Amino acid sequence: MTYKEPIHDVAQLAHVEMYSPDVDATVGFFRDLLGMSVSGRDGNSVHMRAYEDYYVRSLTITHRDKPGLGHIGWRSSSPQALERRAAAIEKTGLGRGWIDGDTGHGRAYQFETPDGHKNRIFWDVEYFQCPDAESSCLINRPQRRPLQGVPVRRIDHVNIMASNVTKTKTFYEEALGFRTRENILLENGAIEAGAWMSTTPQVHEIACMLDRSGAKGRFHHVAFWYGSPQHLSDIGDVFSERGIKIEAGPGKHGISQALFMYVYEPGGNRVELFGDSGYLIFDPAWKCRTWTEQNLEKGIIFYGSPVPQEFFLYGTPDVPMPAAAQAAE
Ligand code: FE
Repeated sequence: MTYKEPIHDVAQLAHVEMYSPDVDATVGFFRDLLGMSVSGRDGNSVHMRAYEDYYVRSLTITHRDKPGLGHIGWRSSSPQALERRAAAIEKTGLGRGWIDGDTGHGRAYQFETPDGHKNRIFWDVEYFQCPDAESSCLINRPQRRPLQGVPVRRIDHVNIMASNVTKTKTFYEEALGFRTRENILLENGAIEAGAWMSTTPQVHEIACMLDRSGAKGRFHHVAFWYGSPQHLSDIGDVFSERGIKIEAGPGKHGISQALFMYVYEPGGNRVELFGDSGYLIFDPAWKCRTWTEQNLEKGIIFYGSPVPQEFFLYGTPDVPMPAAAQAAE
């Protein structure tokens, strides 16, 4: 097979917009328990960031009747890269045109996945300007470590559910330059049940899991990074004493080798706290590692308690689950 030269046009996951039916409670969860701060408000939206997020927002909470994904914001690696990716996306028919800018970023090209998840990519960003009272003595840290909750450090990745993982994965690979680091193939390769993709040495900035509900465009989770496994135990105490539902963890996935904990924020969306970075990939010719029925048990849980069935079925917005989908898990 000819070696396919990597495309480095997408630099990073910049922000995720999430819908919540209870914006105040959702903002309170991220602010009071996870130590994030509110950096601005527009209409029905509240913009937030973690203390090591350099831009003015990494998370936006927007009011809607049901929880779910608003959009995913990517930063390109240069102004030229933005133009190249916009042109490539345009050819797929999934481009949705340019906007002049939005909170925290300049001109952006909007697009959708084959299932309709909204995304945008931009180059110009607004950097967070720290008020003196919150500034750090570390010149490489945008804000000092907050005192509230167990503060997460930065946004890490997003996970979406797709009716056809292969189509969604291929779109991110071909139009955006993502590389698939790991995937799950079931039934002798007939069903792709998950794919973990990145443009950086991280195993994933985006993952895509099979949605067996028949719905399209659902959201699985957004993850924020601790980088220190002890913080999962610390925040676990905080969540348990404050009625926040822990769905799974702390535990370790074989896939991505992530130390994880999944919880539900009060608006109903799943949020992952990421205890470390798993492993990193520096091999430019990395070959996707494929999990199958033979080894998937360790892929899902390397150690720790099993994840409940709802982990594979629940996404936002919640939808009725056909009996066949439940039986498949
Ligand atoms: Fe995750």
